[in-house]
Amino acid sequence: MDPIDKPKNILNSPELLQYILKTSAYPNEHEQLKELRLATVDKYPHLYTMNVPSDEAQLLSIMLKLMNAKNTLEIGVFTGYSALSTALALPDDGKLLAIDMNREAYEVGLPFIKKAGVEHKIEFVEGTALPILNDLLNNGKEGTFDFAFVDADKKNSKNYHEALLKLVKVGGAIAYDNTLWFGSVAYPDDVKFFEDGDQENESFRECVRKETKELNSFLASDSRVESALISIGDGVTLCRRKH
Ligand code: SAM
Ligand code: CA
Repeated sequence: MDPIDKPKNILNSPELLQYILKTSAYPNEHEQLKELRLATVDKYPHLYTMNVPSDEAQLLSIMLKLMNAKNTLEIGVFTGYSALSTALALPDDGKLLAIDMNREAYEVGLPFIKKAGVEHKIEFVEGTALPILNDLLNNGKEGTFDFAFVDADKKNSKNYHEALLKLVKVGGAIAYDNTLWFGSVAYPDDVKFFEDGDQENESFRECVRKETKELNSFLASDSRVESALISIGDGVTLCRRKH
């Protein structure tokens, strides 16, 4: 099977996933998003599934338009699939502050962002996210963002949540990606889920599984937000800041 037909997804029916992608998502995928996606497969044959799948990107894009989002933030950019999708959904004077410690990967996607004519909407900031969020808070940016997408080091998600609850305005939204983590969160802690023979990879994934379960319980009981865990892609949790 062509690798582009194997996005990371927790849907247990491969046929249904192909149906969704081929019938709905890919026909509506912006040409430059498609090119960026294929260039990522070429450049990073083992990492390309880090890009959000196009059905999830389209859901977030519609949400951004429904919200009239203008000022947005992303933690974890990689080659920029979600960033380009966000920038395309924003009005011409909209902004995305895109944070990642790896500029090299972003530069793989940059030609497609330029070709799509939305480079002016994206400010890429290279660095580790938490200090950058703290700088934003120290520089008077409280309550200035309409939307934040969190898709980076899962161990910091709760720290990001605390900062983002100040940076995102009341009524704004924060989305956490990979909150179903390959479907592993549904199984008891003492049941090993990841067994691919690569010890390092297995223990990393088991560790993220534990962090994700903690995050999911935490978000579900956080009275500062309304949240919904959506089974699209690898799971995405949408939170709306209540007060
Ligand atoms: N959102 C992207 C997309 O859908 O195309 C994919 C992001 S990828 C899953 C995760 C990215 O997070 C990587 O590019 C990595 O460099 C970045 N990252 C990990 N830890 C980070 C941190 N502490 N601060 C900033 N970026 C980080
Ligand atoms: Ca992700």
